[in-house]
Amino acid sequence: MLTRFAPSPTGELHLGHAYSAALAHGAARDAGGRFRIRIDDIDGSRSREDYVAASLANLAWLGLDWDGDPVRQSSHLGDYAAALDHLRARGLVYPCFCTRADIAQSLAAPHGPPNASGGAVYPGTCRHLPAAERARRLADELHCWRLDMARAAALAGALDWEEAGQGMRAADPAAHGDVVLARKDAPASYHLASTIDDAAMGVTHVIRGADLIASTDVHRLLQELLGLATPVYRHHALVCGPDGRRLAKRDAVASLAALREAGVDGRVLAADLVRERLPAGYSLQTA
Ligand code: GLU
Repeated sequence: MLTRFAPSPTGELHLGHAYSAALAHGAARDAGGRFRIRIDDIDGSRSREDYVAASLANLAWLGLDWDGDPVRQSSHLGDYAAALDHLRARGLVYPCFCTRADIAQSLAAPHGPPNASGGAVYPGTCRHLPAAERARRLADELHCWRLDMARAAALAGALDWEEAGQGMRAADPAAHGDVVLARKDAPASYHLASTIDDAAMGVTHVIRGADLIASTDVHRLLQELLGLATPVYRHHALVCGPDGRRLAKRDAVASLAALREAGVDGRVLAADLVRERLPAGYSLQTA
């Protein structure tokens, strides 16, 4: 068994991250397996080195020892580009020049259906651009790359995954529409980078928050298109604060740094979290 914890270094880790990391660490250690850290730092404008250092220091404080060096997504950009080339060669991706405002405008009337992640399904404006216009605009306009979902989903056929302890779940990637695989401002999207790295790291069990369960529809499709192995998934409950809302990086009181400063013993906290014993006021919410 190989599990991982994959923080994005865009803020301080909080109690919810500690819960997730403790579950992934515990599952690996209980099975005599390995636990690795991945730093999801492809978002160059929001990722910060001080958050990388703070995240590692907080994981060490929790006593969640990891195997090998932390992996950095920013050093795998060539892998993401190669995967995108492969999909491009098969006609499964297309460049999209739309701005957020363009998309909002084409969705304005009638309202497009929300996608499985709660956002709007891309209306497909750039999917059928004439070849000459596409070539001209590619040369001098900012663009992202989108998956041609209808083609990709038809090619892949029916997909499912094993949700630990719950059996097989059907994946519904089509509900997400033409998702972005490479962003205008980053060489890969979360979907592409995460799927490729989980496979490259040999992750056998992806243990992450229930807020990411919808993404698994897309990850499952990408695995199929790119010939990657499918791990088992466990999407765990989310930690909520005293106000009943799930924690966010802005919730400073629940930050691990604050708990540490308040004299909390990190190892005891991690051991409590895997047993679903949370500090007073906090609770777990199944999505
Ligand atoms: N880096 C992602 C986050 O912090 C988690 C990725 C994953 O677990 O798949 O939300």
